[in-house]
Amino acid sequence: MIYGFDPLYFLFALPGLLIGIWAQVKLSHAYGKYSKVAVESGMTGAQAARRILDDAGLNDMPVEEVPGHLSDHYDPVKRALFLSSENFSGRTVAAVGVAAHESGHALQHQAAYGMFSFRMAIAPVTQFSSMAYGVIFLIGILFHILQVVLPIVIATFAVITLFQLVTLPVEFDASRRAKEQLFRLGLVREDERRGISKVLDAAALTYVAGLVSSVLNLLYLLALDRRR
Ligand SMILES: [Zn+2]
Repeated sequence: MIYGFDPLYFLFALPGLLIGIWAQVKLSHAYGKYSKVAVESGMTGAQAARRILDDAGLNDMPVEEVPGHLSDHYDPVKRALFLSSENFSGRTVAAVGVAAHESGHALQHQAAYGMFSFRMAIAPVTQFSSMAYGVIFLIGILFHILQVVLPIVIATFAVITLFQLVTLPVEFDASRRAKEQLFRLGLVREDERRGISKVLDAAALTYVAGLVSSVLNLLYLLALDRRR
């Protein structure tokens, strides 16, 4: 049996794939719409992030521009915020929302928010598992010993799934902190905040889709194991 040609696999993979596509469509729709809506304050994403970080006493934390579309992220190792050009210099609801969300991760780090710390702690083993999963799977198929290595494949994939599960509360909490700070510091109006919610909720949905897809994949692997 070859992984990709098992009809049972498609049964498990299809729902995740469809939810993933739906989430991507929703995100590009929401982001596309609100990256054309200017914020009344005239602030760029970078300026909004700077205000939130400074307010939290993180005056030394750099806010830098990175290439790529929606490549925005907070780097906990470098303790720096990286914003895509569009959001770094954009003066739109979407730009300010995304920049504030990434600042939210910096606030989580500063506050030693439990889920954030846990996610950081399991990041190295997740990275290793992501690599090992593919290699072991390939070895299993090439040498026809998939059934033998299946428990290892399942264990590595379970780690990846756990990481995605922990990512959800971290993402939702970062968005919650973002909206709270934007409003508290008077950087956005109420209607702008609603637009930001739509963009950030759509972004969170892609993480939900990723988790659903992984859980189904894991169930498939467990079903394979039961067939042994
Ligand atoms: Zn995030």
